[in-house]
Amino acid sequence: MPLTIVMYHYVRDLERSRFPAIKGRTLADFRRQLDHIAKAYRVVRVDEVVAALKGETTLPDNAAWLTFDDGYLDHYTNVFPLLYERGWQGSFFPPVKTIRERDLLDVNKIHYILAASKNTTLIIDMIRDFIDQNQENGRFDDYWSELAHPSRFDPADVIFIKRLLQHRLPETIRNQLTQSLFSHFVSEDTKAFASELYMTEDQLRTMIGCGMYVGSHGAGHYWLDRLPAERQAIEIDASLGFLAELGAPTTDWVMCYPYGAHNGDTRSLLGMRGCAAALTTQAAVAHIGEHSPLALPRLDTNDLPPSRQIA
Ligand SMILES: [Zn+2]
Repeated sequence: MPLTIVMYHYVRDLERSRFPAIKGRTLADFRRQLDHIAKAYRVVRVDEVVAALKGETTLPDNAAWLTFDDGYLDHYTNVFPLLYERGWQGSFFPPVKTIRERDLLDVNKIHYILAASKNTTLIIDMIRDFIDQNQENGRFDDYWSELAHPSRFDPADVIFIKRLLQHRLPETIRNQLTQSLFSHFVSEDTKAFASELYMTEDQLRTMIGCGMYVGSHGAGHYWLDRLPAERQAIEIDASLGFLAELGAPTTDWVMCYPYGAHNGDTRSLLGMRGCAAALTTQAAVAHIGEHSPLALPRLDTNDLPPSRQIA
């Protein structure tokens, strides 16, 4: 039973924003994509998906599930009204610390560092200087040859910056380096920036009240497979406590793994806590009955029409 799960991040009027180079869906393309989805798919709700995963019902033909990661304010201002208007449920996955502490995620700092500078040379120069000054943590050339390999969406230099800052350097120094790049290229006021970027608890409550689904995306947005089981449990439990306080469901709930990352420990912790479905970033149409419910693949919004305009 096929289920097309679509993954979204930024959805905004990019050309009229302060950072037009942010990689996201433009609002115009998003509207066009919703028209396409209305014609080609039947948008399903989380309870329909959960019932199908349990074998209690079947999904309609061409079922699609719309998922939005990271708790961006874009989702409240741009996405929610358009879905509501069509009578569709969207599923939203905010990490706890973005909403509660207005803490800017390193992954977002990295997006904005890349969007704020015209080319990556200046960023890579600063990274090289930093690593040279902190030689005990390794040599620049070794990191470069290990990490600078292109992916489906990004060239080698961009992947190098992302992987180095997302997880490869030891946590304390990578936070320090990311923060200094962010202050240099984007903004000195990280808190104010975070307040503009993410939703509030009240906005999430409003969406829940209007039939939208809110699920877990962890607390601190870590690669869970890189944490020991005890720390994974803390991450998951903190996000469940947060969902309970928002009034979101905590039985038959949905996990959306940050970066799609998980391992056997993650899946058994989720199983013990009554998680019904978990979403990865593996690019494929999900097949209920074939994929494990705790490792469902998703398509990126750019894998569906309209395709991304390459400028
Ligand atoms: Zn995320």
